Amino acid sequence: AMFSHVLSPLIKQKTSEGHCSKVAAHYNELQECGLAARSQSRIFFLRNFNNWIKSVLIGECLEKMRKNRRDIGVLDLGCGKGGDLLKWKKGGISKLVCVDIAKVSVQQCSQRYGDMKSRGHSNEPLYAAEFITADCTKEVLTEKYKDPENTFDVCSCQFVYHYSFETQEQADTMLRNACERLRPGGYFIGTTPDAYELVKRLEASETNAFGNDLYSVTFKKKGDYPLFGCQYDFNLEGVVNVPEFLVYFPLFEEMAKKYKMKLVFKRLLPNFSKEQSYKIRSTKHC
Ligand code: SAM
Repeated sequence: AMFSHVLSPLIKQKTSEGHCSKVAAHYNELQECGLAARSQSRIFFLRNFNNWIKSVLIGECLEKMRKNRRDIGVLDLGCGKGGDLLKWKKGGISKLVCVDIAKVSVQQCSQRYGDMKSRGHSNEPLYAAEFITADCTKEVLTEKYKDPENTFDVCSCQFVYHYSFETQEQADTMLRNACERLRPGGYFIGTTPDAYELVKRLEASETNAFGNDLYSVTFKKKGDYPLFGCQYDFNLEGVVNVPEFLVYFPLFEEMAKKYKMKLVFKRLLPNFSKEQSYKIRSTKHC
């Protein structure tokens, strides 16, 4: 989804305890196994597909941004180990701030950036970068930036926002962090699981779970789907096994209005990929 920003707002931070430490511990423990091992994985194509989706979304957003600005600043909310660092380089941005709750991931992300910098070609200058470890559902990032006046053109939140829907306060704080430092005209882009599809598959299942030999999704119970804290456990071939929360998109869209955000684009991943492949084909024929 892509939200466009109109003006910056200001609200008060609230805190609560929850599953965040489990999420951080899980991602901290994940090993960075390198490209060779990753290509052996049974979810290699899924990873590639997700990466491609992100590349297209990021590429299109930066293209729009470049029409008005030369120096593009980006906030990567839940950056993980830095899987998108190269995409930002290709997009020709000037400044990147990477934030994640998992300290080890942030260190690896920073290391990866350092490696890119030392490998860099002189004709392709690399953007400046800053790395922050923070729980974006509980901490206000404004207080953590090196430059307190930091503003961004784009906030990217890829496969992360669903961790915040544990409570309204957490979802709101994450949204605040994503949007309050966006310049007017800036974009909030992201990818998150589709709550409708998850519930549809659950309702079609005879148990509280569904999946196949690669993944499983387990809910506490069927038929009761609170707006916040509707938890399910997601397991993907041992890669992810952490609590996540349903994001009811119409509510998310409504909440974003508080931060002067307007929904400009939303697609289900399969539809988005079909549309993009048509574009590729039609470009080839031109
Ligand atoms: N965005 C990266 C990507 O696309 O490769 C990583 C996606 S990974 C599925 C989810 C990431 O969200 C993890 O790195 C995790 O540590 C981070 N995360 C989860 N909860 C968070 C929170 N409350 N604050 C900041 N990061 C969080």
